[in-house]
Amino acid sequence: MSECLFCKIIAGEIPSDKIYEDEQVLVFNDINPKADVHLLMVPKKHIVSLNEVGTEDDPLMAHMLRLLPEIAKNQGLKDGFRTIINTGQGGGQIIFHLHIHLLGGSKLPGFD
Ligand code: 5GP
Ligand code: ZN
Repeated sequence: MSECLFCKIIAGEIPSDKIYEDEQVLVFNDINPKADVHLLMVPKKHIVSLNEVGTEDDPLMAHMLRLLPEIAKNQGLKDGFRTIINTGQGGGQIIFHLHIHLLGGSKLPGFD
């Protein structure tokens, strides 16, 4: 069994507030939202961070990026949204399974 928290969420071993799912990705609400809307998009494939993305992941990465506007729109974010990918300890990454933060709404945080 994987020790990775997001792999456990993907496997359904830990519950999540699921927003969207397909064969490649899962999107769920962040447990500690920093904005009105704060979702996490994770690939079902365990990739540690952007540092570990390979050329074989190009279709997956394109899929995730192209999905973001659609999901933002479905969340009512008509005026736009912010995406953040923390990479490595120096980038503030806490969960070492690649994820894209999707944030939006009136309480959108800054970068600090
Ligand atoms: P990072 O700093 O690694 O980019 O962000 C990890 C994010 O995962 C944080 O925003 C944190 O609130 C979120 N998170 C941590 N544990 C859980 C959990 O068990 N469930 C959900 N839904 N989000 C989590
Ligand atoms: Zn994982």
